[in-house]
Amino acid sequence: MKIALIAHDKKKPDILLLAKKYKDTLAEHELYATGTTGKIIMDETGLNIIRMKSGPLGGDQQIGSMVADNLIDILIFLRDPLTPQPHEPDVSALLRLCDVHNTPLATNAKSAEVLLMALKNGVVSDINL
Ligand code: PGA
Repeated sequence: MKIALIAHDKKKPDILLLAKKYKDTLAEHELYATGTTGKIIMDETGLNIIRMKSGPLGGDQQIGSMVADNLIDILIFLRDPLTPQPHEPDVSALLRLCDVHNTPLATNAKSAEVLLMALKNGVVSDINL
């Protein structure tokens, strides 16, 4: 599966915790991330990640383009809902595209863990709605 990982700055510690906890599961899949998120996860876990541009420089839109082409199977996007983001329109567009294309999406750490547990247990591909 193709899995995209994005985290706003204050959520980067959370995505790192998730990446470490589910490293073995994630390692079985093709991983994509925005620039800084990808770098931090790669540096700390050794996971192989295809990195896009940083989110504020267009990375969210690059991932969005993949979602639009049905090239992403799961998006984990740990948003910071308490800090204004200069690229908020890109963030909204990406979340919207996930809903347009029925792409599994988690925007907070616990939801992300539910998705990663499902991935680990091999049940994500059983979801047919
Ligand atoms: P970053 O981008 O991984 O390059 O920090 C994430 C974002 O802010 O959307």
